[in-house]
Amino acid sequence: MAYRFIPQYDDEELARIQLDGLRYTVAQALKSPQYREHLGDVHPEDIRSLDDLRRLPTVDVEDLRAGYPLPLLCVPPEEVVRIHASSGTTGKRKILSYTQRDIDTFSLQMARCYELAGLTPADRMQIAVGYGLWTAGAGFQLGSEKLGMLTIPVGPGNLDMHLQLLRDMGSTCFGATASMALLMAEEVERAGIRDELKLRKVICGSETRSEKMRQAIESKLGLEASYDIAGMTEMYGPGTAMDCDAHDGLHYWADLFIIEVLNPETLQPVPVGEVGEMVVTSLRKEAVPLLRYRTHDLSRLLPGKCACGLNMPRHDRILGRSDDMIIFRGVNIYPGQIMDVIGAFPELGGEYQVELRRDERAIDHMTLTVERAQGVSADGDAALAETVGRRLHKAILARVDVRVTDAGSLPRTFSKSKRVVDLRQV
Ligand code: ZN
Repeated sequence: MAYRFIPQYDDEELARIQLDGLRYTVAQALKSPQYREHLGDVHPEDIRSLDDLRRLPTVDVEDLRAGYPLPLLCVPPEEVVRIHASSGTTGKRKILSYTQRDIDTFSLQMARCYELAGLTPADRMQIAVGYGLWTAGAGFQLGSEKLGMLTIPVGPGNLDMHLQLLRDMGSTCFGATASMALLMAEEVERAGIRDELKLRKVICGSETRSEKMRQAIESKLGLEASYDIAGMTEMYGPGTAMDCDAHDGLHYWADLFIIEVLNPETLQPVPVGEVGEMVVTSLRKEAVPLLRYRTHDLSRLLPGKCACGLNMPRHDRILGRSDDMIIFRGVNIYPGQIMDVIGAFPELGGEYQVELRRDERAIDHMTLTVERAQGVSADGDAALAETVGRRLHKAILARVDVRVTDAGSLPRTFSKSKRVVDLRQV
């Protein structure tokens, strides 16, 4: 497969690029007084191999807040050409600065993602993700223009305008959050205009979508394929990793960053294939290089080579936040792992709740309450609960008491993290 923007390195070349990039990043970071204080007595020449990365301290979101408004800035302010910010839920926004070279790398990583999705300059890209301080719209647009696609920057919401432009412009690709894509797909189905559209691909960003969502989006829109894209403001924005046609994990651009997966408690690496917190190190960032930045996102690295033939490592989709980790009888459990097991049962809906209790002998118990899918009879509940319990035991190595309940009976206002009710405080 010949690509224009996706590089094809062998393992040795990649390792060499990573080592050079790591040395550059340490040297760049030391230009910031905030970083110098954080790193202590570290010099670029101390980095002799990639293993030396582990000797560096991690950087966390507090470090980005501490330097507000231009945290961890490693270039003179006049070299900054743009800022973006993430929608911080508490306190100050995280503001990230970009030099022109950073913007160029940002366009490159997005152009690569489009290329991996099989898009070409003949495609027309309609963008439904957010614009402004938020990086998503900017990234989707930069990459689309770099690849040479006709770009239609609509932004989120505005279903009527989207529908009209999909039809009038003959858009072949749609970039949106999974819920927006699903909304669009339902609207297209309702209006009965599927055959008037040229849409063949959808790229879903910024939220994890279930297998059920993927199937609904693809079938309602009659797509050739749809893809998941990953990203975060700290690493330019969207496009850090992308699903390929093998749909077996997301390839990340290992010449642009190193991803470590660490146990969030001990900050020690977990074995390849095991779930932990993704910690990223940038290899080319100029304005705000990142050294072992804790994303608090949980995922795992996937071992082996991908069937698509691209030699770029892969990580799984995001399985939750490390802050949501449950420690149950000494085992680390992530809500995403429970969601994965539930997703494998067509008889179950997507809503669930986990309750943790401690009995009088100080033994912990976990109960999972999960909704039956619409239209499934309650007769099979007992057998279903037992099968789910067995599958969970295998997946998370913990015994769970499973209860199946009516569709629509669990509260809907719960955010993902509130699905876990911990009653163990004594
Ligand atoms: Zn692949």
